[in-house]
Amino acid sequence: KTSPIKTVNPFNNELVKSFEIMGDEQIESKIAVADHAFQTWKKTPMADRAQLLRRVAHLMRVKSVQLEKLATLEMGKLVTESRAEVGLCAAIFDYYAENGEKFLADQPLETPQGSAFLSFEPIGVLLSIQPWNFPFYQITRSAAPHLMAGNTMLLKHASNVPQCAQIMEDIFLEAGFPAGVYQNLFIPGSKIDVLVADKRIKGVTLTGSEPAGSSIAAAAGKYIKKSTLELGGSDAFVVLDDADVEQAAEAAVRGRMWNAGQVCVSPKRVIAEEGIADLFLDKVKAKFAALKVGDPMDEQTDLAPLSSEKAVEDVIKQVQKAVEQGATVLAGGHRIDRPGAFMEPTILTGIQPGTAAYEEEIFGPVFMFYKVKDEQAAIDLANATDYGLGGSVFSSNNERAVKVARQIDTGMVYINHVTGIAPELPFGGTKHSGYGREQSQAAIYEFVNSKLIRVT
Ligand code: NDP
Repeated sequence: KTSPIKTVNPFNNELVKSFEIMGDEQIESKIAVADHAFQTWKKTPMADRAQLLRRVAHLMRVKSVQLEKLATLEMGKLVTESRAEVGLCAAIFDYYAENGEKFLADQPLETPQGSAFLSFEPIGVLLSIQPWNFPFYQITRSAAPHLMAGNTMLLKHASNVPQCAQIMEDIFLEAGFPAGVYQNLFIPGSKIDVLVADKRIKGVTLTGSEPAGSSIAAAAGKYIKKSTLELGGSDAFVVLDDADVEQAAEAAVRGRMWNAGQVCVSPKRVIAEEGIADLFLDKVKAKFAALKVGDPMDEQTDLAPLSSEKAVEDVIKQVQKAVEQGATVLAGGHRIDRPGAFMEPTILTGIQPGTAAYEEEIFGPVFMFYKVKDEQAAIDLANATDYGLGGSVFSSNNERAVKVARQIDTGMVYINHVTGIAPELPFGGTKHSGYGREQSQAAIYEFVNSKLIRVT
């Protein structure tokens, strides 16, 4: 039986490399080492922890070419996007190196009885389960804050990005992190429940699909462990009738084609007021036609393959089902006739409430397009989903846009911009998109004991 953990290049579907799955003894030894390392790491001065994070940032920048090629090889994103991802990761490590000690300083509390403060204390070994779509960034946003806070970490990365997982472990060690503070596990998802049950593991953080999130949350709940979940989204991209239509169309296309559409905060549902909808659509179609399909390693390519053969098949099936249930394909809708996991940029319209496309996330280069009669209808439709991750509002009137943003039930709304990522801004959702926050000051408190100490 071949290992499920392997590199398959989605540009040509070639198997590049397989990795051995870790056995039970090896997993046990990794947990023991992580728990042992925690006893020292939690007492390591914050300045020393920060210095190690800075070294990781530095090494990522030095090895950027190697890292970006690995990400593109394993999951197919444009090499220019891989480069931007590596730069973002370095910035996140630097951000927590710079600010971690300040965020974790004792916080005085006002009380009429004596004096009181909060002491932020690490809780132990964390299990981080991450997806393939941003193979370095997903690791970084869980590792940087939680290692800075004094926890240790075991990473279970997605099975299709093992080389990205491996090189990050190598970088942590090369940076000088003590053995056991950060370790990679080559295991299938089916082994996770046993890990969550282990007493030495104190918390779980997952980014991925709703079923994986639900299963992890159930296991964490059973053993009374803290979890954070960042699951999918079906973000609304609201175009109000006073928007700069060229700016909005450009942002929508770039946002949706980013990572071949495989981004949790990609603008999946475009909701345009009727006064502007047709002009907006014409511009989107023209921009689609100008996209250059090709090798993601080539810097001139605009449209990359999806992450795997299965990924493209699944998206095609979703589009076909939408059509069976009454939707219309305005552009694209098919595989691109060439080797590799390529799909045409697609626009679906006429999606009716109660159909699969109306309810589900589509993780590929597909816009679900809705024309609505006014602002209130746009808000109602934006909220007519179980997801609640991000969203955008485009308008030339910021006050109006902010008023609309306040009524959208998600964790993030960006005005005149697609939902973005920055080290200092919180990232996370509500409803079925999960709970907890990553990045920013907020993330560092997710896996600490905010301990009250009161002095009389
Ligand atoms: P999964 O949720 O299946 O995978 C994400 C991670 O969770 C991987 O490491 C995976 O391991 C692991 N995993 C999967 N099932 C379980 C389980 N039951 N218990 C514990 N760990 C598990 O995502 P997929 O890659 O299959 O993508 C499918 C869908 O997930 C997408 O269509 C999209 O909707 C959503 N998704 C959302 C992302 C986001 O950024 N929010 C990112 C990626 C996907 P393994 O690879 O070994 O199965």
